[in-house]
Order: sequence, then structure tokens, then C-alpha cells
Amino acid sequence: MDPRAQSGVPNEAAFASLGWKQLLAARLQYYRDLGIYDFYRRAVASNVSTEESVLQPANVAVSTPVAAAEDLFAAPNPEAGVADHAKALRLIQEDLGECTRCVLSRLGRKTIVFGDGDPNAELMFVGEGPGADEDEQGRPFVGRAGQLLNKMIEAMDLKREQVYIANVVKCRPPGNRTPESGEIETCSPFLLRQIAVIQPKAIVALGAVAARCLLGLNEPMAKLRGRWFDIRGTRLAVTYHPAFLLRDPRQKKETWKDLQMVMEYLGLKPRRAPE
Ligand code: URA
Repeated sequence: MDPRAQSGVPNEAAFASLGWKQLLAARLQYYRDLGIYDFYRRAVASNVSTEESVLQPANVAVSTPVAAAEDLFAAPNPEAGVADHAKALRLIQEDLGECTRCVLSRLGRKTIVFGDGDPNAELMFVGEGPGADEDEQGRPFVGRAGQLLNKMIEAMDLKREQVYIANVVKCRPPGNRTPESGEIETCSPFLLRQIAVIQPKAIVALGAVAARCLLGLNEPMAKLRGRWFDIRGTRLAVTYHPAFLLRDPRQKKETWKDLQMVMEYLGLKPRRAPE
């Protein structure tokens, strides 16, 4: 028998029928009866493992993207088994269609920004969501932040056409607000399918929204930058979003360090630090 039942302290079933104040009072009385009078507030437990516990031997922390849960009973994706990356990406885009799966489709979106670049790219950049310019043109990172991203790519001795660029959400959030969790959960499976097709050697998450979506971690940028993560066998690095760098150019130096870590892994020789 549940000892709390004997003492009159409410158990979980009682939670459903009593108000929380009554319950709290009853629980306190129960502890007083046991001779316990002092209570201490415990830090809220995080469901994120500590850095030490997730670190792998090669200093690569393994992480699971937010939308990674697989439905064993779902029909296979149309791109499954398609070896030609360009064709497989087209199949994903067709599957996405004129998407109305989340509210962003009804909040002024003009174009769905699927992503673009080399379907066989070794390096992929993931941003947050399209802005006004991207919404007009249907391509990611074509506005001011995009121009800075282009400079970052060129400084890595790459051309924009050699990498692949996509976003966590494919429709512009109104007023460029941060995408909401429901929107990210709905849209990011398509991003994960793009990554699975392209199989880049490395991904750079631009900013905290992309990082948190892809890693399933709710950590500040300071804890995410300057190290490698592993998502489903692909290395992932986190750096500042170019839009943030436009507001705080002092962080460009730090960004360059992150990109140099990526270049080293990809065997790229830097041309110069981006301006
Ligand atoms: N910011 C993003 O995160 N993505 C874009 O495509 C443009 C700006």
C-alpha cells in the first residue's frame, strides 16, 4: 500500500481532484508530521546532458535534431533510395508543394524558400528563416545578411555555388520575428531530409535558432560555439548569424575562428579573414 495513503497525504490520483493550494498544504502537513520543517529550492533540472557526459573521445558531442523522431509506421519519403542528389531534392520540394502545414503560409508569405546550392556540397549552412528579400526572390540569404554570408564563404576559399544553404523554416515569419516552436517542428523535417540527401561533410548552423533546432539543445551561443557536434553522423559547428554580425561587427573575429575550425576539417586554405 502507498504509505502516503495511510498517512492521509494525497497521492497522484488526488492531484486530479484537489486544488494545488490544498494539495500543497496537505503535503506540507505530511512532512511536518514526519518532523521535517525546512525546505530548499532545487535548481530546475535540465533535460540536456552535461557537456562532459555527451562528449565523445574526439571532442565531438553527439546530438539529436529536434525533429529527428521517426515514425516507424509512416510511408517512406519519396526521395528514399534516390541516388541522384539533385533529383532527390526535387522530390522533397515536390512533397513540400505549396505548403500550408503551418500558420506561416497564411501570414503574408509570398514564396517558399526551399534552399539552394550544390546538391553534392561538402559544406552546408543553415539559417533561421527567410527575410523580406528572400521572400521576394525565393532564394535564401540574398539580402544584407546574405551578402555578408557570401563574403564569409569566399573567405573560406569557396564559391557560393559550391555550398548548400537552407533555413530552419522555409516561409518568412511576419516582421522577421523568430520562428515559433510549432513552426520549427512542422518545417524542420524537410530540412533534415535535405541534409540526409546532400550528406555534407560539415554543417554550419548560423545562430542560436538553427543550432537549437538541429541539436535539440537549449544552450546559449557561448556553450555551442567553438566545438564540434555530431548529428546523425554529420559534423556540425555553430557560429553567429550574419544578421547579428551586421549589428555587432566585433563578433566577426570570433566567427572567423569558428569558420577556421570548419576549414581545417574540410582541408580548406583560408584566403583572408572576411571584412
Ligand atoms: N536570415 C536567415 O536566417 N535566412 C535567410 O535566408 C535570410 C536571412
